[in-house]
Order: sequence, then C-alpha cells, then structure tokens
Amino acid sequence: MLKFDIEKRNGLARVGVIHTPHGDIKTPAFVGAATRATVKALTMQEMRDLGSQAILANTYHLLLAPGTELIKEAGGLAEFSSWHGPTFTDSGGFQIFSLPDVKITENGAKFKSHINGDKFEMTPESSMQAQWAIGADIHMAFDHLAKSENHADMERAMHRTHAWLERCVKEHQCLDAAAGPAKEQYLYAVVQGGVFNDLRAESAKFCASQPVDGFGIGGVFTAKGMDEILKTVNSILPEDKPRHLLGMGQEPIDIFVGAEFGCDTFDCVGPTRMARNGSLYTLDGRINIKNAKYAHDFTPLMPECDCECCKNYNRAYLHHLFKTDEITAKVLASIHNEHFVVSLTDKIRESLLDGTFDSYKSEFLSRYYK
Ligand SMILES: [Zn+2]
Repeated sequence: MLKFDIEKRNGLARVGVIHTPHGDIKTPAFVGAATRATVKALTMQEMRDLGSQAILANTYHLLLAPGTELIKEAGGLAEFSSWHGPTFTDSGGFQIFSLPDVKITENGAKFKSHINGDKFEMTPESSMQAQWAIGADIHMAFDHLAKSENHADMERAMHRTHAWLERCVKEHQCLDAAAGPAKEQYLYAVVQGGVFNDLRAESAKFCASQPVDGFGIGGVFTAKGMDEILKTVNSILPEDKPRHLLGMGQEPIDIFVGAEFGCDTFDCVGPTRMARNGSLYTLDGRINIKNAKYAHDFTPLMPECDCECCKNYNRAYLHHLFKTDEITAKVLASIHNEHFVVSLTDKIRESLLDGTFDSYKSEFLSRYYK
C-alpha cells in the first residue's frame, strides 16, 4: 500500500505526506501538468527551482509519442524526463473521450491518433499496461468520462467506469506480481458521477470498496457546486488514503475549495496555458501583460512573488517580450504562473497547520476576486 501520513486535520481538510518511491509529497500540493513528459516551456530544473514537488504525465499522449515502451526502456518517466521526483500518470481517458470519433464499447474505447490517424484501442487492461511501462509512481484507473448533463447518461458512464475499475485492479495486481517487490507502482480509483450528488456518492462508495491506494476525483465540474460534491465524495472515501482532484486548479478558489473539502493533490494545465497567452496571476487577480497599459510599467509583475521572473524582470520588459513573440516571454510567464499555484497550495498547507486557513482564505479571495 502507498504510505500516506496525515499530520493534521481541520474538518475534511488534511495536511499530510505521501511517500512515493521517488520521494515525498507534502500535501496539499499542486502537481505540475507534464502532459508529454514536459511542463510546457519549462525545464525540469526550473520546475524544481519554482518549488514543484511532483509532475503528472498523460498516458494517451505518451502512448502516441514517443510510445510507452520507449519510456520503459529509458527506465521510466522520472528517469526519462530527468525529473527524478514523484510522478503521476493520468489514464488518458479524459483526452480519448474528448476525441471527435471515439467509439465506446463495454470493452474499452477505439480511437484514432490525433497526430497521424493510426487506430488504437484503449481498454482498462491496456491502460494499466501502458502506465506500468511509463513507470509513474501513481496511476489512475481508466474511466469513462462522460460530458453530459443528463442523469441517465452519467449513470451509464459511471457503471461502466466501475466495471472498468474492477478490471484495472485485476490487471494492476497481475502487473504488480510480475514486476516483483523491487518495483512499486500504485493505483488510484477515479470517482465519477458528474454534477449529480447521488451518483458521486454511489461512485465514491464503489471506489472505496476496491483495493486501491488512493482516489482521483474526475469528470467535468463547474466550480459552482464543487464544494457540495467534494463534501459528499470525501465524507465517503476512506480517510487514510490520498485523494487527487483531477484537472482542477486554474482558479485559486478551486484550490482553496479542494483543500478545504479534503483533496490532497491537484493538477491543471491552466496556469501554464494561460501564461503562454500572457494571462498572469497577481494577488489582485489575473492581468493580461500584452495590454498597452503595461508598456511603461517598470514594476515587477507581482512584487510579493519570489520567482525568477518577478525577482529579475519588470512588466514593461515582459510586455515587450510578448509583443515581439520572444520564446522567453512564455518561459518567464510559465515560471511565474506555475510558481503562483504551487506556492499558493504550499501556503494553504501552512495555514492549515497553524490554524489560520479561514482568515487566509477570506483575505486572499476577497483581494483576488475584488
Ligand atoms: Zn513571480
């Protein structure tokens, strides 16, 4: 079993440490979205320097390129990418079910590569095999992500997700036995059910009944109503196993709500995607650095920030780099945005430890969303 120590609790929120084969993750923690085994525009050293503790890569993307067997040959994701720290893989379900011509059967999903049109079939078994080859510390079960507001559609997808979870567990156990005791890789079940509280509760109960190491909470959320769903789900999931909120964390409020209602780790491509477009976090909300009003602004992007970008460069310079489409614009902006969400999550952790979470949350959010 994956070792997870809880140091402190505050309602559903908890402060803990996940002990992975590649090192510890102090939670709550924001995990870097390294979709293709890289966080876009950032080197792994830059990720370490900005305080990142773990990365999450995507099985679908790595399956298409460079192929999971090549990553296995390199010694696994942490070694291949020179990250060397804790790693997660998402199952690829989210990407596959977003493809235009995906065919879903009880067995799995048939789809065409978005790169060259090659045909693939992903099943619970093949997703587990791919994730074992990629060799991340923590894997996500292959789930059926439905994007529907219809209760019956979501219920069908949830039951399929549960049937697939049982197959994922079986295959994971086979691969674990074959790998021997020297190799440790862990499996999270994924709770589905969309925006429906009754389905989320049913899914959490089913996932909790399975011999897994932790839980992903997946599916399409709107930030509104997320607190209710997380309250439902995390009141049911066993307390002693870690929980990852999949794909959420673009908005600071998502991280506050996620941590408050019992999630331990988060990942989201939003912060670096927005950075590449010049949309940058500050304590007073996000600004678009391409805006003309920053052309003569020689102050740091965010004076309170200690990232490489804010310590060394001013807004006018960043504005110039974006206007002239310099690659460095994307690098510096990504360093700042990723550091912002990583350090925000670290500060939430500290505030839970010293009992100031509620005041930190209200101060931060009232200024940010003013
Ligand atoms: Zn900064």
